[in-house]
Amino acid sequence: MANPYVIKMPQLSDTMSEGVVVSWEKNIGDKVERGDIVATVETDKAIMDVEVFREGYLSGPIAEPDSVIPVGEVIAYLVASKAEVQSETSAPVAASTSAKATVAEAAPVEIVADEVPGDAHMVKMPQLSDTMSEGVMVSWEKNIGDKVERGDVIAQVETDKAIMDVEVFREGYLSGPMAEIDSVIPVGEAIAYLVVDSKAVMDSKKTVTTAAAAAPAIKPKSSPAGTAQAKTRIPAQPHGATPAPRPTHKNATPYARQLAGAHGIDLNSIPGTGPGGEVIAADVLNSNVQKTSTRRIFQVAGEGRAMSAMEKAVSHNMEYSLSMPLFRVTTHVDPSALKQASKAKGFSLTVTLAKAAALAIAKHPIVNAVYQHEDRIVEREQVDIGIAVETEGMGLVVPVLRDVVNNDLASLSANWKDMVDRARARRLKPDEYSNPTFTISNMGMMGVSHFDAIPSPGTSAIFAIATLGPQGMPVTITADHRIVNGADAAKFMNTFKQMVESPTWLDASIPPATGISSGAKFVMPQGDWDYDVVVIGGGPGGEDAARDLVEHGFKVAMVNDAPFPGGECLWRGCIPSKAWRAAADRIRDRAHDGMMGIKANIKPELNWTKLEQHRRGILEERGKMALNTDKGVKIDVIQGFASFIDAHSVFVDQGGNQTDPHARAPQGDGKKGKTISFGAAIIATGAPPFVPPIPGAREGLADGGVLTSDTVWGLTDIPRRLGIIGGGAIGVEMAQIFQDFGSKVQLFEGQERILAEVEPEVAKQLTAILNDDPRLTIATLSKIAEIKGEPGKMKVVYADAEGKSRNYSCDYIIMATGKRPVLEPLNLAKAGVQAEKGVIQADNCCRTNVPHIFAVGDVIGGLMLAHTAGQQGRVAATTICGEDMLYDQDKDSGVIFTRPEAAFVGLSMEQAKAKGIDAAEVKVPMSVDAKAMITGETQGLIKIVADKATHRVLGVHFLADHADTLIGEAVMMVSGNMTLEQVGQAIHPHPTQTELFGELARRLSSRLKRSERRKKPK
Ligand SMILES: Cc1cc2nc3c(=O)[nH]c(=O)nc-3n(C[C@H](O)[C@H](O)[C@H](O)COP(=O)(O)OP(=O)(O)OC[C@H]3O[C@@H](n4cnc5c(N)ncnc54)[C@H](O)[C@@H]3O)c2cc1C
Repeated sequence: MANPYVIKMPQLSDTMSEGVVVSWEKNIGDKVERGDIVATVETDKAIMDVEVFREGYLSGPIAEPDSVIPVGEVIAYLVASKAEVQSETSAPVAASTSAKATVAEAAPVEIVADEVPGDAHMVKMPQLSDTMSEGVMVSWEKNIGDKVERGDVIAQVETDKAIMDVEVFREGYLSGPMAEIDSVIPVGEAIAYLVVDSKAVMDSKKTVTTAAAAAPAIKPKSSPAGTAQAKTRIPAQPHGATPAPRPTHKNATPYARQLAGAHGIDLNSIPGTGPGGEVIAADVLNSNVQKTSTRRIFQVAGEGRAMSAMEKAVSHNMEYSLSMPLFRVTTHVDPSALKQASKAKGFSLTVTLAKAAALAIAKHPIVNAVYQHEDRIVEREQVDIGIAVETEGMGLVVPVLRDVVNNDLASLSANWKDMVDRARARRLKPDEYSNPTFTISNMGMMGVSHFDAIPSPGTSAIFAIATLGPQGMPVTITADHRIVNGADAAKFMNTFKQMVESPTWLDASIPPATGISSGAKFVMPQGDWDYDVVVIGGGPGGEDAARDLVEHGFKVAMVNDAPFPGGECLWRGCIPSKAWRAAADRIRDRAHDGMMGIKANIKPELNWTKLEQHRRGILEERGKMALNTDKGVKIDVIQGFASFIDAHSVFVDQGGNQTDPHARAPQGDGKKGKTISFGAAIIATGAPPFVPPIPGAREGLADGGVLTSDTVWGLTDIPRRLGIIGGGAIGVEMAQIFQDFGSKVQLFEGQERILAEVEPEVAKQLTAILNDDPRLTIATLSKIAEIKGEPGKMKVVYADAEGKSRNYSCDYIIMATGKRPVLEPLNLAKAGVQAEKGVIQADNCCRTNVPHIFAVGDVIGGLMLAHTAGQQGRVAATTICGEDMLYDQDKDSGVIFTRPEAAFVGLSMEQAKAKGIDAAEVKVPMSVDAKAMITGETQGLIKIVADKATHRVLGVHFLADHADTLIGEAVMMVSGNMTLEQVGQAIHPHPTQTELFGELARRLSSRLKRSERRKKPK
């Protein structure tokens, strides 16, 4: 039998030393896949899943539910085949000599020898951080002889990082020998014992003063001696307290600093009684400051009961809060508009109230700051709102919604629902309930007419929301006066009231993105301008903006330095390249004819002259159509090259006007032209091809041996051999088009992969497919050293991926090394417009730093695509109209017109992760699709990426024939924020490839639901 894989009790939090098995999510003998959840365990903080990272069959012996297993010990096994599965009752595999357990061997498990019932159980110094090797006993929270329950905190220890609780995971009576307060105990050594029988309690101390002198672990059976321990009661560490600064001429222990920090005590004012005058915790507690503080002990009659850990934490936090000078401000808010809008959009009022508070905090960031001892203010950028939730038996729990300003309401609502469910089942992870920057307590739901709340340490304010009364809903802020003054609080409350009473922010279709220059609506500057708006450039960006603006009644001039509009897209980009692609498709498709029984004995032959006539004809026809439409809708189309004179006028140079619409226009000669003034301007001047300074490239461009996407259209015949430098969309499309036309092509890419904007697996598979044809080679990681030769006889000298110098001979070289705006001739400085890294800077409304000047399309960088430019043109126009519209790159799309086509809309897994979204993906190979099999187009795959919390489709990625059509549905999924369930329930017609979307969505939806169900308590 192969070695079984050991499933060990995982360490699921840094304080966890053992876990209780709660449930088995798989049965013995079940097939388990990588990533499956096999069990749930209760840690010291919550109930958590045990995931496995390899496949196999679950095998016994498995740990019984409710058993307590130390971290690292076996809870079950995975075996390779069903035949090797052992039942629950069989002997542990790890103990067997015949079968060795792979992991158990690698990480031997520590066994406590005296865990025999009736005998003593050793409570060891736990390892509470990865760097902790010893701990200092700070306090005993239980006395010798006390009955201890599972989960009780019995002591506190100081680690190298903080003061932490020592919890026990079994019941018993606390027994000595017990480590003395301030003694240093190595990790793993005994600090006390638990015995089953109260009569077996031993009453003795263990004294170790330094780590070096630490005594070996005490054997519980060694005869105990001594008297009952005089217990030093030290209050627990208040959460969120910052250590006080070190005193100037002496040392202080970390715990003393923590305590002093928590109580605002200056350590310089306290004499130290520790070694060498070191200030120790007792000094802080015995100091005059402490004595004069509010801590007084009142004797209360009766036995009392010990507080639970949660009650203690709350009590200590509240005690710490007493050191805050608090004040309160109340305002009455009318919540009806927010209630109605929240209901209409399906969001919980709690979440929209939190969002309103966060938006108000964004305007008054002081409310998000916190006092740090001594005399410092920590200003936090992110607004994390904790909202108190009542739970049965566990009091108030405060799950925290993170980054509430920037996260959209759909994800906040989904997160909130999920966290509330888990909070009530005690399944929140520590980072989900710790460190809010602001807190909301809403007792309005309980009919409370007015109340105030106490901010917890680490925050400086809290909201108390009471029930709706005759004056409205009373909202009281309790704030730390060291940070927030009365006027701050009043202004903040007014903004909050406004956010709640006019919740227009709820209608924003796109979540606000960072970088928007101002939320203010655009107002057209007043003046006697020639035009309301001048649009510079007549490509997709400029033309779409101009058309939208005239539709809204603006007087618009579109200055374009070419005889017809259309820009690069029409004359040198999308349209001509797709005309070539269409011809290449016809040639390629002939290969499939024979497969379907069609006689395929006629070799397709390309007549270049005919194709070029066809191509040029389309461009000219479309150019004329566009110009007629532009003039027809009353855009004043002016041919000429525009440059800024100042922030409200441009000079239109009409000296260099050319008549050939196919070639890029040269800059004007400055001899003829006119000045026009404007209220607002849109720069849409595009980006010509960029040629890097490779030796010989410039000379090649001059004599025509080196071509770019501007000049390749002048080819008079199909090259026999072609070299293409650059593996972006233009280079890759050209490479396969010419391969299909019959050229032998080599494409050189400097990076490890081609098509940086495309999903990694799609790009990888496409590279393999392209490389599969002997007429096309993709050479990644190549470094071009030199270009030489003359048209028809060119040579690329390059170093290959191994660094070996090589030559490639060809007729022509196409430089497809990106596009870069040419900004100098625009005289941007005269208008005050800023550029950075070679592109004009614009926000999501396409506004530059000059509020009435906008920039769209290739000239602002990002995705340099025609539809992106068009969308940005519409965003600029809409903003000028005074309406809200933002460009959202996370929903943008693209198609690389190869065969199969690579396409994307929205985010890939990598991109989602980089944005902090917990996403999942599902994919299907085209080879399983009936339609693809019919047409023989079985290469590639389709992937859907969705947000695990909201099930919203974040992205769809393709490598498939017809992706240019299929992507339409995917674009609607992403732009419409559709969920997997909506896509899965849509009725797709059969037999079409759109059915794949439904299948993928249903598959991912059930996978996510399954794992959500498993996470929920049974
Ligand atoms: C070979 C190739 C294939 C492509 N294929 C696709 C594709 O399939 N899909 C896709 O989405 N994108 C494709 N693109 C990209 C697409 O062409 C561009 O992203 C798009 O044209 C950019 O639009 P724009 O309005 O920003 O600029 P442009 O289209 O470049 O238009 C700018 C216009 O402004 C004019 N101009 C410049 N300066 C001035 C000035 N100072 N005064 C007056 N006029 C000026 C220019 O002459 C031009 O007419 C392709 C590009 C190439 C090169």
